[in-house]
Amino acid sequence: MFCTYCGVEINDEAVVCPHCGCPVKSNFSLQQNKKTENNGETLGIVAIVTALFCPIASWICGAIGLDFAKKADNKHAKTLNIIGLSVASGGFVIEVIVCIVFFIVVFLGMYST
Ligand SMILES: [Zn+2]
Repeated sequence: MFCTYCGVEINDEAVVCPHCGCPVKSNFSLQQNKKTENNGETLGIVAIVTALFCPIASWICGAIGLDFAKKADNKHAKTLNIIGLSVASGGFVIEVIVCIVFFIVVFLGMYST
């Protein structure tokens, strides 16, 4: 590859250009950044999908995903994770209400007979 600062051809694995001493933007670091962004997005989508049937797993995915998204400064991934966390909170409230209603129905059923 070629140094982005001085244009001299350098070794593909070089981190610093031996000619001008500038840090070289290698393909490896670019791929790593992309991977981090993808992780944030994927976790955000997982958080939204799992939110309805497993809010706790969704919270964990959303929290990790939001952390990834913040590090990668990916607004799209941040939004996805925030939606996931919101839906998880809503899903958790609905599950608690369903449990309470179920308990009341069973409780009343026991005493009405
Ligand atoms: Zn250079």
